[in-house]
Amino acid sequence: MTQDTWGQVRGELLKSVGKNNFSAWIEPITFNTVQNRTAHFNVPTNFIGTWVTQHFSDVILRHLISAGVDVDRVQFAVNAAALASNAGNSNSAPTPTPAPAPAPQSRKAVQAAPQDLPESALNPAHTFANFVVGKPNELAHAAARRVAEGGAVSFNPLFLYGGVGLGKTHLMHAIAWELRQSQPQLKVIYLSAEQFMYRFIRALRDQDTISFKETFRSIDVLMVDDVQFIAGKNSTQEEFFHTFNALIELGKQIIISGDRAPVDMEELDNRIASRLQCGLVVDLHPTDYELRLGILQQKVEAQRERHPDLKIAPGVMEFIAHRVSSNVRVLEGALTRLFAFADLIGCEITMDMTQECLSDILRASDRKVTMEEIIKKTCEHYHLRQTDLMSPSRARNIARPRQMAMYLCKKLTTRSLPEIGRKFGGRDHTTILHGVRKIEELISLDSQIAEDAELLRRMLEA
Ligand code: ADP
Ligand code: MG
Repeated sequence: MTQDTWGQVRGELLKSVGKNNFSAWIEPITFNTVQNRTAHFNVPTNFIGTWVTQHFSDVILRHLISAGVDVDRVQFAVNAAALASNAGNSNSAPTPTPAPAPAPQSRKAVQAAPQDLPESALNPAHTFANFVVGKPNELAHAAARRVAEGGAVSFNPLFLYGGVGLGKTHLMHAIAWELRQSQPQLKVIYLSAEQFMYRFIRALRDQDTISFKETFRSIDVLMVDDVQFIAGKNSTQEEFFHTFNALIELGKQIIISGDRAPVDMEELDNRIASRLQCGLVVDLHPTDYELRLGILQQKVEAQRERHPDLKIAPGVMEFIAHRVSSNVRVLEGALTRLFAFADLIGCEITMDMTQECLSDILRASDRKVTMEEIIKKTCEHYHLRQTDLMSPSRARNIARPRQMAMYLCKKLTTRSLPEIGRKFGGRDHTTILHGVRKIEELISLDSQIAEDAELLRRMLEA
């Protein structure tokens, strides 16, 4: 059996078990191997393993067999590697609602429009009414509101930036919904920078750049999401710059988002960056406890409308708001899983169940140690200066601590060997691997090293 077969079986499972069950229980499973007619899978937590074994092993087995896999048993085990990768996934999960495909625009084809407008579908849930405002996002929210009121152009362009899952896309959709409602005559277009690029490339290929330009210049409000995507892609940036200028000169509103401030986007065309600076640049800060709690409460309310008998023990929401990271998408993923659970077994969501059910997400949020901290603490522990640790010196009293820091970076962060190599003054990834292995070996041989490793780990994780 191959990963492809598993992919196929997952597709079938989605149909049999339904979307909710699928995202809560089947999605976290990864296929490992088939041995002695047993299919082995990895699961991120014991809890998921037990649940899946009890409730889904028959249906999984059945689908495997119908896909032609020669098995008569399935087994689920918790695996450390799967855990790490799952923790990584949960940061971006759940996958944002349907991939923004260009909306069908058959009506446009009848009109004399030179090209279909490449707009993306808007998520109906991304409205101002559903956006919870707190200290970290109040400025961005106020600016978005103002722009959505239309009227005399106030902030142009509006640039929203911030980390993943902090609500940039949500706010842009909210502006679009609002404008479409209050001023339906305006041509409001929302699309990702990626789509902008694909449209442009297609126009180049079809030698149709003139109508590409005309199409874009006929827009009243243009929103381009995740502009970092085109940074460094030169001909696309060039075209974007011209579109941008043309619209600004016509007094049309532009709203752009990115993952960093324009000045920090190294590969972004300077002219674009300085144009962006002329408008209003606002950032969405990482969420704080109050905002997370507000968002959780709002989502629970919404869920209660569908399931009036939903019961949640006191303190559970506060616990999640405390312990789950600042990314709202991760917060939503946690709730989805809890709701699915409560829905399935029809019981109150208790603290115990929450801890068990979300243990992988909680663990992933716990681990926020950075390589900088590791290097700093390691130097303090061994009384070294950072410049020594980074130096090429092979002296044992420097090389060992350096290897220790490499080892800790590998164990305590999700950084790859090449990334760690770059952090350690551009060392090769094989050097890092050697260092990591050396410490692993010494930990079992040398109690002093083992003690150092343990002490540092505890200090860093505290
Ligand atoms: P970004 O585009 O910044 O990566 P998104 O706008 O896609 O983030 O937000 C991620 C998820 O979190 C979305 O489902 C969004 O609805 C939700 N979200 C983010 N911020 C808020 C908020 N302040 N109130 C309610 N939901 C939010
Ligand atoms: Mg986004």
